[in-house]
Amino acid sequence: YAAKGAGEPYRWYVADFDRGADEDARIGAELRTAMDAGHLRLVYQPIVELPTGRLVAVEALVRWHHPERGVIGPADFIPVAERDGTIVELGAWILREACRQLAIWRAEPGSGAPPRVTVNVSARQLARPGLVDTVRDALTVNGLPAASLTVEVTETAVFESGRSVEALHRLDEMGVRIALDDFGTGHSSLTLLQTVPAHALKVDKSFVDQVAAGGRPAVIAATLIKVAEGLGMSAVAEGVETAEQAAELHRLGYQLAQGYYFGRPTENPRSADAALAG
Ligand code: C2E
Ligand code: MG
Ligand code: MG
Ligand code: MG
Repeated sequence: YAAKGAGEPYRWYVADFDRGADEDARIGAELRTAMDAGHLRLVYQPIVELPTGRLVAVEALVRWHHPERGVIGPADFIPVAERDGTIVELGAWILREACRQLAIWRAEPGSGAPPRVTVNVSARQLARPGLVDTVRDALTVNGLPAASLTVEVTETAVFESGRSVEALHRLDEMGVRIALDDFGTGHSSLTLLQTVPAHALKVDKSFVDQVAAGGRPAVIAATLIKVAEGLGMSAVAEGVETAEQAAELHRLGYQLAQGYYFGRPTENPRSADAALAG
């Protein structure tokens, strides 16, 4: 297992599309054991205000600390967990754990706790009737207000089931915020904006990558911030890696950003502010 320099230090399993049902079953079974053994951990990536770098939220991202294989990233096990249904239990654990961690940060005096945590919720979780109760429990058990949680969903996940939109409306009524993740890469971005009670658009990294270079992705990034503003939503630029991108996004009107330039996902993201200022 070799760590990659610039990327995240993981990726052990063979690519998802090469995997057979046996491989899926093995990973699924191991994953359930891993959950019980405490081998799943969350890291948190800062979401910051432009241009100040002030921390406005952290996104919880799951990692699997495999005793033999090292750290495995979500792309290598979330799709399997989606297929075999483990995601429901795993996703509930992730919601509880992210809320538990936020409550701990909030309880520390003068800790500069992030105002909110965002948690990714996948298609199958969203389509299950229990999601709303799971979210409510995670908040209640940890004594958190609903507004301190944002649920991130992709357009594709919402699109897959009629029940998903209903669940999002119930979360919205509860006061939980909703962000549309990887916005602009799904099937029905603009249609969804008519029916989903979303508070934020997370503009996909593919548009952000080219923002300083101009061209079509830059035009799309410039247009999406207008769409968000027009609908009274906020927009987060995802995957910002350079000062040039950050400056250009700010010039276009973006007030929120996330990316390696501001901070990588870590177990304690609160030092990101200081790093940026220095
Ligand atoms: P996402 O929700 O769009 O999360 C952003 C991903 O981009 C994360 O990868 C993050 O580490 C990476 N990233 C952030 N900034 C940069 C950057 O500047 N450059 C580059 N190259 N990458 C950046 P990660 O943690 O590997 O997660 C991948 C995807 O797996 C997530 O995409 C999300 O869809 C899914 N995922 C992660 N954690 C969870 C979870 O707890 N539950 C569910 N259902 N899905 C999760
Ligand atoms: Mg996300
Ligand atoms: Mg995203
Ligand atoms: Mg993305």
